[in-house]
Amino acid sequence: MKKREKLAGGMILIMSLSFVILSLNGCTKDNNASASKGNSQNKDALMSYNYSDTTLAGCNYCIDSLPVEPLNTSETEALVIMREEELLAHDVYYTLSQLYTKPVFRNISKSEQRHTDMIKALIGKYGLEDPAANHVTGTFTNQSLQNLYNNLVSTGSISLINGLIVGATIEDLDLKDLKDHLLNIDNQDITCVFTNLMRGSRNHLRSFYANILFHGGTYTFQYLTQDEFDLIVNSEHETGSGSCHCN
Ligand code: MN
Ligand code: MN
Repeated sequence: MKKREKLAGGMILIMSLSFVILSLNGCTKDNNASASKGNSQNKDALMSYNYSDTTLAGCNYCIDSLPVEPLNTSETEALVIMREEELLAHDVYYTLSQLYTKPVFRNISKSEQRHTDMIKALIGKYGLEDPAANHVTGTFTNQSLQNLYNNLVSTGSISLINGLIVGATIEDLDLKDLKDHLLNIDNQDITCVFTNLMRGSRNHLRSFYANILFHGGTYTFQYLTQDEFDLIVNSEHETGSGSCHCN
């Protein structure tokens, strides 16, 4: 009897230990599973530009909360051209999203709509004439932007990889242009918006570049410097902070 009880006790001990070991394995597996799930979610977000949205209300808040300051000529020119340059990005991505099912085009085009809307809000705040007041997709007041749009859509329509390279090209150019404009801007609201648009562009560039690599392509920077380009594509998606972020 005693021997049987001892045996039963031993069995229970072994079973309990097995349970603990199984539980530990299960725990480890769960952790690995959630870690890899997290990575694949990050990867999916990067490839699709499937990031949680920030509202335009938040963007407008940062514009409304900052003072109206005197506009210099460079600031006026920057607002007028960037209103259409952000719109160009929207229209190119929207047009390509009709050709290719990859969500990156559709999702980034929505982001560009918010970008151009932020500049529209600044144009309204300063009482400037909106060059895109009666905007029709693919039509621009600025002739250089019109030519650029025509070339980019024509190139991007050839193949998916060309479309993705067009995406990287637009972001590369936007970053250079926004950075150059910022050198001659001192109004707080315009600085805030342009700085945020640059963060949006860096995030867009990361997504287009990841898609290009995924499809076996390459992209060589055309407007940014090597260091600027490397720093962006080798770093993580930026979420910004406070209520003034719109990417
Ligand atoms: Mn943009
Ligand atoms: Mn962009």
